[in-house]
Amino acid sequence: MVVVADGSLNRFGRELGAERRRDYPMGMAARGYFRSAASHQPFLESQLDLRDEDGATIPGYGWVFPLGDGTVNVGVGLLSTFRRWKTVNTTKMMNRYVETAPSYWGLSDQSRLTTPMGGKLTMSFSRGPAVGANWVMVGDAVGAINPWNGEGISYAYETGRIAAHHILDALAADDLGLLSRYQAELEETYGLYYKMARVFVRLIGYPSVMRTLAHVGLRNRPLMEWTLKVMANLLDEDERHLGEQAYQALAAVVRRLPVA
Ligand SMILES: Cc1cc2nc3c(=O)[nH]c(=O)nc-3n(C[C@H](O)[C@H](O)[C@H](O)COP(=O)(O)OP(=O)(O)OC[C@H]3O[C@@H](n4cnc5c(N)ncnc54)[C@H](O)[C@@H]3O)c2cc1C
Repeated sequence: MVVVADGSLNRFGRELGAERRRDYPMGMAARGYFRSAASHQPFLESQLDLRDEDGATIPGYGWVFPLGDGTVNVGVGLLSTFRRWKTVNTTKMMNRYVETAPSYWGLSDQSRLTTPMGGKLTMSFSRGPAVGANWVMVGDAVGAINPWNGEGISYAYETGRIAAHHILDALAADDLGLLSRYQAELEETYGLYYKMARVFVRLIGYPSVMRTLAHVGLRNRPLMEWTLKVMANLLDEDERHLGEQAYQALAAVVRRLPVA
């Protein structure tokens, strides 16, 4: 059994025949580390209204994550649904973000500790197949990143754990055909949630939608809290609050969409 966990470039997986779905969104991100007196702050900061050099709104976000050790993790990410995304240089985008980030973080060329490191974000299970005769793909290799927010670490762990479970079953039964259940469980666990995300990222690819969400949505606390819960996959679907019901209603619509 081989577990293919070779990340977004997926060189090994490609040799096995894995391909990326080009109709699914993809992300690009850059990250660097800075010295900061605010490193012990108990909150992280995300900025949603990023602009390119021409002032156009970019679907993505900038972040500052305080690390508590005198440093902060600073980065930017954007989505391929941005019309001009192939021409975007994420290092420049990050430098612009650093220039405009709130001064209390103390970000500057002087406080910069590392040069930005960039990479692709393979999301929404855009790579596949997830299962072969005697192999499975996990994490970025299978495109497990959550398109709602670009988070991939927890999904790499989760897919690894789900895969391990099915590998054990297949080996115990001496039937590698059972590995196909891994693919089925991915669909069951993430299918609808990621489909909704694909609709969302397509919508925010329109600058006017992104602008409206960033400027109107951010001023409405209940709406923002609900959006954050959905984006972070923290909504408790068993709860019957208004937010959960709104999510179920949206999910019912998206479930019926033929494509996305
Ligand atoms: C700039 C940037 C910032 C990010 N920030 C966040 C964040 O804040 N939070 C978050 O949740 N996610 C973030 N992500 C996404 C996150 O990094 C990935 O989703 C996560 O690391 C995926 O884990 P993985 O183990 O699948 O792949 P990887 O972490 O890419 O690990 C794959 C490993 O396989 C190795 N490898 C490749 N080919 C071979 C081979 N043939 N043989 C042996 N080894 C091989 C690679 O060297 C690498 O070490 C970010 C991504 C980028 C690019």
